[in-house]
Amino acid sequence: MADQLIQFKNLKQINMKTKSSGREDSRSSDLNSDMSGSDIHSSQLMELFEAELKDIYWAEMELTKEIPKMIKKATSQDLIDALENHLAQTKEQVSRVEHVFEILGKKAVSKKCEGMEGLIKEGKEIMDECEEGAMCDAGIISAAQKIEHYEIASYGTLRQFAHTLRISNAADLLEQTLVEEKAADDKLSRIAVTAINDQADMEESD
Ligand code: FE
Ligand code: ZN
Ligand code: FE
Repeated sequence: MADQLIQFKNLKQINMKTKSSGREDSRSSDLNSDMSGSDIHSSQLMELFEAELKDIYWAEMELTKEIPKMIKKATSQDLIDALENHLAQTKEQVSRVEHVFEILGKKAVSKKCEGMEGLIKEGKEIMDECEEGAMCDAGIISAAQKIEHYEIASYGTLRQFAHTLRISNAADLLEQTLVEEKAADDKLSRIAVTAINDQADMEESD
């Protein structure tokens, strides 16, 4: 994939100039006319970009339903706060993906993300099996971090695609979400350390 991206980077992309604002809608129709070899490459990358966007759109919408279940099951106030904060961000991320579709001049369409579905399923299993409390919090953190890592990978790729396709306003939006996902992941790491230390202290004093 990295090699391919480098190839794409070196292509001349006459149809993908995005310097002017408000001209986004004409871009998709430009793509279909007078294609040179390099345009075909960029249109294939555009297809991949759209497919990835549909995937993450499904994932984000699903997460707006799943994060509340994690919040319900969590006991640490830090964890609850972090999840609530990220739920609000996730709702904004859904709108941001819709905005990217708009920039492409496409209707926002979702396609089931098998990867995220699996991660959510694993998270559910952990939550069904754990007793509420510190151990369950640890399980929720681990499930949530796997989800964040998946999102970080997706948005990293999407941002790179947008950049390569020279759709800079889309790249900026995807970058904003990427920053939020990384921050959410870092926050969870810090909570995990605190939670484990607290638990160890409690066990020592028993
Ligand atoms: Fe997200
Ligand atoms: Zn996926
Ligand atoms: Fe996230």
